[in-house]
Amino acid sequence: MTTEVTFIMVKPDGVQRNLTGEIIRRFEAKGYYLRGLKLKQVERSLAEEHYIDLKSKPFYPGLVDYILSAPVVAMVFSGKNVVTMGRKLIGATNPLASEPGTIRGDLCIDVGRNVIHGSDSVESAQREIGLWFPEGLVEYKPHMLPWIYERM
Ligand code: GDP
Ligand code: MG
Repeated sequence: MTTEVTFIMVKPDGVQRNLTGEIIRRFEAKGYYLRGLKLKQVERSLAEEHYIDLKSKPFYPGLVDYILSAPVVAMVFSGKNVVTMGRKLIGATNPLASEPGTIRGDLCIDVGRNVIHGSDSVESAQREIGLWFPEGLVEYKPHMLPWIYERM
């Protein structure tokens, strides 16, 4: 079985709106499990580096300020195809286009307050996990795996 991992962050609006539990619940209920978790007031250099690919976008300065505006909850979830499925659980970037049933489709309205980040590829996930969890991830074997996967 794959041990794919993805970086998930509850953004400041999600933390302030008490949506952290709801967001963790959706990933856990699907069958993914935590490998890392922390509440963190982010320093500017980390926010800028995290979103470095968007540096040329007009919304980049506002995006960095948004991420610095209050604590975030940084997480790593693991499981089969968790990067692609994580993006499906999250929904489209602009909540106007996110389907109901997705996190953004159900829980937010504005693209600039869209409550959650999720890695968009396995390569991005590796980069982001290295940035946010330089101390490494927690290794363990969840007892539920045979109840989630037919073959391991
Ligand atoms: P994501 O991977 O779905 O989060 O989307 P992107 O990587 O394209 O953009 C990163 C984040 O920048 C988004 O989640 C939004 O918070 C923000 N963002 C993207 N596009 C816009 C925009 O057009 N306006 C504003 N204000 N924020 C945006
Ligand atoms: Mg992105």
